[in-house]
Amino acid sequence: MARPFNFSAGPATMPEEVLAQAADEMLDWPDANGNRCGMGVMEMSHRGKEFQSIYERAEADLRTVLAVPAQFRILFMQGGGLAENAIIPLNLSALRKDASGQGMADFVVTGSWSEKSRKEAEKYCLAHTAASAKADSYTRIPDAASWNLRQGASYVHVCSNETIHGVEYPQLPDLKALGSDAELVVDFSSHVASRPVDWSRVGLAFAGAQKNIGPAGLTLVVVREDLLGHALAICPSAFNYQTVADNHSMYNTPPTYAIYMAGLTFQWILRQGGVAAMEQRARQRAELLYQTIDQSSLYYNTVHTDCRSRMNVPFFLRDAALNEAFLAGAKARGLLQLKGHKSVGGMRASLYNAMPLAGVQALTDYLREFERAPG
Ligand SMILES: *Cc1c(COP(=O)(O)O)cnc(C)c1O
Repeated sequence: MARPFNFSAGPATMPEEVLAQAADEMLDWPDANGNRCGMGVMEMSHRGKEFQSIYERAEADLRTVLAVPAQFRILFMQGGGLAENAIIPLNLSALRKDASGQGMADFVVTGSWSEKSRKEAEKYCLAHTAASAKADSYTRIPDAASWNLRQGASYVHVCSNETIHGVEYPQLPDLKALGSDAELVVDFSSHVASRPVDWSRVGLAFAGAQKNIGPAGLTLVVVREDLLGHALAICPSAFNYQTVADNHSMYNTPPTYAIYMAGLTFQWILRQGGVAAMEQRARQRAELLYQTIDQSSLYYNTVHTDCRSRMNVPFFLRDAALNEAFLAGAKARGLLQLKGHKSVGGMRASLYNAMPLAGVQALTDYLREFERAPG
């Protein structure tokens, strides 16, 4: 039987090929030459040669997928995006200090995620809102020329795709052009590997794996080497980027199975044609869904067209009394997890790399069908 289409925001749908390969290798993992080793990946020592080869390939493939330059380190961590909201100020806020000895960090608040990041950072540094789209219900990105960036700030934090509000930066800001010498910190959790990254603008980028890369439990950090070694004294050792980098993400036991699954996903992305292919498909999927929403008189999306997310598409029914019937009909057709985030309401379709175009076609067919005959 065909699998249903899963529009969950995360943990989210995975490429079927990747799941099938993991199933085949579950009891007895084969090495690159096809020799079975008698162990499943979950059972391997993280320091054994089998897992070392899995780890090295995953890191090398990720470097290729995202075109990560040599001066950046790739760290496989734990704690998710929310832990990084603390780990980043613990590691980077003291890059530069104000007269009182406190580090400063600026936040561009474009939705729930960047707001959470700012709040958490307040515990560790002088966190400041450089711009906020809250007054516009997070439907746009404040014009970069209007950002109130502080001289002497260690970093500026942006969330390049707001998973809940469906707002995506068309491109990363160029802080130097804005007259700032702060480092750019990017939360790209929910659209990593769906488009290229301009690393010349970035100091650090991080992502929870469970949106576009693999299972929950793995957090990806890509950080420029010269930003290591500035952690506050109170920073936990297991979260000190320098320590993690020096130990090749094995200061403590890393999330081995999640790294393996992410590695299979990186191989899958490369087989499909890399990030260029992912981006083209993302554009196709998003265009089809937004077009259908915009042409309808039942559904609407409130995000400005210049920053609509290609990965997370929130939408509403003009008659909210139809919401339950809409979701029930979707489920009956194998279209799962379309309910919007509780803070926003309505619906949300997440269209990550692993979502085939056929899933969006099935969804848009249903949107039209339901509009003709609601309930
Ligand atoms: C999912 C997500 C996170 C991470 O959440 P965790 O539950 O801590 O892994 C962080 N930022 C964004 C933009 C997200 O979508």
